[in-house]
Amino acid sequence: MPSPAQIEVPNSRGVLPNGRARLPEWLRVNLPAGKSQSAFNGTLNIVQGNELHTVCEEAGCPNIHDCWARGTATFMIAGKECTRGCRFCSVETLRQPEPLDAAEPERLADAVERMGLEYVVITVVNRDDQLDGGAEHYRQCVAAVRQRMPAIGIELLCSDLDGNWQALQHLLDDSPLAVFAHNVECVPRLDESVRDPRASFAQSLEVLQRAKLLRPDLWTKSSLMVGLGETNQEVTNAMQQLREVDVELLTLGQYLAPGRPGTRFLPVDRYVTPEQFEIWKAEALELGFRGVASGPLVRSSYRAGLLLEEAKKGKLQQSNEGDVFGSKRDG
Ligand code: SF4
Repeated sequence: MPSPAQIEVPNSRGVLPNGRARLPEWLRVNLPAGKSQSAFNGTLNIVQGNELHTVCEEAGCPNIHDCWARGTATFMIAGKECTRGCRFCSVETLRQPEPLDAAEPERLADAVERMGLEYVVITVVNRDDQLDGGAEHYRQCVAAVRQRMPAIGIELLCSDLDGNWQALQHLLDDSPLAVFAHNVECVPRLDESVRDPRASFAQSLEVLQRAKLLRPDLWTKSSLMVGLGETNQEVTNAMQQLREVDVELLTLGQYLAPGRPGTRFLPVDRYVTPEQFEIWKAEALELGFRGVASGPLVRSSYRAGLLLEEAKKGKLQQSNEGDVFGSKRDG
């Protein structure tokens, strides 16, 4: 696992550590110092001490300094290798990853308890090597957290389970989740170039639709990246399709290539301005989404608990740089 220090986060001038690219100023992040650094280290110690993985590290998330300094992280369960090979994602691909770790649910619950989280996002790697796509293991992880912390809000950012609807039903049956999230990732036209061949917008939409039918009491959530070659109109169309299956929470963020040019990762097609993200936010709210986070550095799990709280209150989610990211940038 790369340590956070090794992750290629652009510095305050927008330059990546290898000097590769100068990013627009709206993609610059502040590195932690002082108390924020201590808090960051505290999160790191718990994650590493409990032998857990996070998508914050594995995906090289640009918000890691902000989130970890606030004592939050998004745990990635079922291993640190994924059976799929999407071209936007830096999580390692293996056809036959390590067997599932039966002790992981308790280690996860212990970490969440020690961090004192009121809300946790748990994401998964695809486990196409498992007959149930990993559903039983995901279920056990969620249950272990809830057993240890009865009042916590739990969001599961799930795989598509390879369209195994029985597994989806098993996963969701009586599960103590607040939010079931599954990301469509990109507009449908770009499925083939962006996602693993086993994934598609249509299948992801069906996952979300079925989840809502199985558990109407859960909030459903999805996420789109931009900067992959889509048009603005295609983003609007994708949002419409998500609303047609009653998805309520949406995040929109800028794709940042995790690897150097010439690797398997797709290059960035464009850097979308904060103003355009605002336009999409307004459109999404108009379409009926209850909570929308839309901004260059927004990621599916970024301040997820806050997004849900705001949606519950029926407030318009403030999601531009200044509102969602600005106030706590220093942790
Ligand atoms: S936005 Fe999500 S993935 Fe990124 S650092 Fe924060 S919690 Fe981790």
